[in-house]
Amino acid sequence: MRVLLALGGNAMTSADGRARPEDQIAAARVAMGAVADLLTSPPAAGADPVDPVDPVDVVLTHGNGPQVGNLLVKNELAAGVVPPVPLDWCGAQTQGTLGFVLMDALDDALARRDSDRRCAAVVTRTRVDADDPGLSTPTKPVGRFLSAAEAEPLIAHGEIWEDRGEKGWRRVVGSPEPREILDAAAVRTLVDAGYVVVANGGGGIPVVRDTDDRGRQVLRGVEAVIDKDLGAALLALTVEADVLVVATDVPHAILRYGTPEAEPLGEVTVSRMRELAADGHFASGSMGPKVDAACRFVEQGGQRSVITNLEHILDAVAGTSGTVVVPD
Ligand code: ADP
Ligand code: MG
Repeated sequence: MRVLLALGGNAMTSADGRARPEDQIAAARVAMGAVADLLTSPPAAGADPVDPVDPVDVVLTHGNGPQVGNLLVKNELAAGVVPPVPLDWCGAQTQGTLGFVLMDALDDALARRDSDRRCAAVVTRTRVDADDPGLSTPTKPVGRFLSAAEAEPLIAHGEIWEDRGEKGWRRVVGSPEPREILDAAAVRTLVDAGYVVVANGGGGIPVVRDTDDRGRQVLRGVEAVIDKDLGAALLALTVEADVLVVATDVPHAILRYGTPEAEPLGEVTVSRMRELAADGHFASGSMGPKVDAACRFVEQGGQRSVITNLEHILDAVAGTSGTVVVPD
């Protein structure tokens, strides 16, 4: 059984959203404890029959919103001393740092369980289309709010900032569709060799195909962010995972969220889930992309997708907890 586990922001920051190094290490320790349990525990009662000698393969991916936000602040504050780095570099840097933090935490959690499973992190580029409408019309807010005066030099630098009223100004960037995980072959090779692999963090480093001045094909990073959950669905399909688990800070996707008639959603077919999404049950910047990712994976051949929190991860993989999206 092969599992793609997408870790939300809360798995990498403290509950109040702080992302100091100690907060990130503490959160990673909790998350990797759950992953190590999954790697070393027999399937839960009520689970699908799985071959007991068939080890669970786990591929991990993660969000990077708070971490990229911190890097952007450093860019802004230090711009007069060291040149700001582009957003695709920030994505690469967070993949490296979070990969390292997750590997440290996972190695420790596995050692405590007497497991000799090894892990690796792969800096992962994801191809997007140069003419993706999500690139030309930036809508995804990143980084912190600034005053109009603070935003002005950045706008002069070519960045796009929007007036968000009372809170101030916020940078917006493009959010293109992930088309192809360019480093998937490396991920797959490592997984096949028994490694637990951290890959495609922050949805992948967005790159487009371009030609250089001699007409040769090259890859060029773009200043955009790919949705982490949509990137996770594509990675899950590319590495032929059986199950996609989207781990966030709530145990279920909820119908009529935030109303007195709120109702947690259990098992649901993919076409019913699409109807519920079209009816507006899932907020576009948060639960919406998780539901979209869950549906894409199942529509394109995945066994099931589960949206839940880390506490339920073992049952989620077995399909007995969380919001479970299954084929029609
Ligand atoms: P992550 O950081 O794990 O990617 P997000 O904060 O983006 O998570 O999304 C999870 C959040 O989505 C929940 O904490 C909740 O506030 C919000 N949300 C919006 N709509 C729903 C819904 N219908 N059901 C459950 N949670 C929802
Ligand atoms: Mg969150």
